[in-house]
Amino acid sequence: MVRVRFAPSPTGFLHVGGARTALFNWLYARRHGGTFVLRIEDTDAERSSWDMVTGIVEGLRWLGLDWEEGPDVGGPHAPYFQSERLDKYREGAADLVSRGLAYCCFCTAETLQQKRQAAEAAGGGWIYDRACGALPVAEVRQRLAAGTPGAVRFKVPSGKTSFPDLVHGPIAFDNANIEDFVILRSDSQPTYHLSVVVDDIDMKITHVVRGDDHISNTPKQVMLYAAFGATAPSFAHVPLILGPDKKRLSKRHGATSVMEYPRLGYLPEAMVNFLSLLGWSPGTDEELFTREDLISRFTLEGISGGNAVFNPDKLDWFNQQHILRLTDDELAGRLKPVLQERSLWSDEFEGPKGAWFRALVSLYKTRLKTLPQFAEDARPLLTDEITIDPEAVKKHLSKPGLHEALAELADTFERVEPFAAGALEQRLRAIAEARQIKPAALIHATRVAVTGRAVSPGLFEVLELAGRERVVHRIRAAEPFLLPSHPSESFNG
Ligand code: GLU
Repeated sequence: MVRVRFAPSPTGFLHVGGARTALFNWLYARRHGGTFVLRIEDTDAERSSWDMVTGIVEGLRWLGLDWEEGPDVGGPHAPYFQSERLDKYREGAADLVSRGLAYCCFCTAETLQQKRQAAEAAGGGWIYDRACGALPVAEVRQRLAAGTPGAVRFKVPSGKTSFPDLVHGPIAFDNANIEDFVILRSDSQPTYHLSVVVDDIDMKITHVVRGDDHISNTPKQVMLYAAFGATAPSFAHVPLILGPDKKRLSKRHGATSVMEYPRLGYLPEAMVNFLSLLGWSPGTDEELFTREDLISRFTLEGISGGNAVFNPDKLDWFNQQHILRLTDDELAGRLKPVLQERSLWSDEFEGPKGAWFRALVSLYKTRLKTLPQFAEDARPLLTDEITIDPEAVKKHLSKPGLHEALAELADTFERVEPFAAGALEQRLRAIAEARQIKPAALIHATRVAVTGRAVSPGLFEVLELAGRERVVHRIRAAEPFLLPSHPSESFNG
């Protein structure tokens, strides 16, 4: 029975790397009908915050990654906040001490620092010299009774520690380079190594899928599993995510917090698809996957050891593809909050103007890379005011002969029946032909007059959706730009 966990420390937002780790764990659990556990590793009380916990939960929910066991839903291994499990870690440390596998250490931070500095000054490295490793039991008792603060260190056995990594193959470390590490601090707070192992044993975790940066922690944890008499889980360490410049992904590459992406207009489906391919491959060059596709294809063997590159253009492409996969109705629903935020929404879009709004969505859908782009592109059809692009005016509204042609077009459009793309196109072309103007020139000029811009989806569909009144009014209002004396360059919209 597969049991995996996502174990974030709530000391920061859910970032792209964390989300990818959560996703891989979730996919693995779903693929094998297993259990996905969310555990909050908040033992560092000073750096952890409730805001970060809720932010992480919100990010996972947005991505659609649900968990069977966790802080809000509970489960057989509750509590799922490490800060509520401190007794278990203290018991674990005491158990190891009682079996001679760990010992109390009374060295002060100053003593340790002096020893380190002395070794470094002599040109060498330093690991803990086990000064307290040989203290007689009676003395330890005496010091503890006298209230001397003492930490607990794990007694690293000699030899090698190795573990098979499902991504990197077998990995071995020489224990001689690993010091007797602290598992419980002198304030009796556990260190990460102790809490993570105690919990993974208690929660019966079968596979640990996490970032590459934890490889060097793994031998210490493997030794702890052995000391507790437990079988270590299988490990899969996933590669780092780099920015397009091959440097570790950071703020300067753009948004790194997952919850910035809904605000920027990305779909969770696109984000999941994009994240899934950061370090994992289905073994073919297919790229577009739904969540269900990913569940049926995901394997830990498909994770590559090489670093993954976060390419924002690729994310845009996935977003565009997943927008295209939505029905017009679904897309209309996702656009509602985006338009509301920009005061472009009307409740009529869900009532009398529902069909019109869906037609608008359908017309602009194919060009959308993000949801807010719809608000920008379709704005001329969503409000009465338009902003005229002076460049577009210069390019398309300054040709000779357009003045009269547009005046005739406005008169014609005022009466044409039906006010529909086909009829509009036929009339426009007839006017262009009669006046010996290239149809394209009249089409461009009409587009600029009606939308204020040089680009839009097919003009006649745009005109139909803009409606007779707006179209006729805007074509007539464009007249001043067409007068030869009009200094179009100075027009400022
Ligand atoms: N709390 C640790 C982190 O956020 C978890 C590491 C692990 O998965 O073992 O890095």
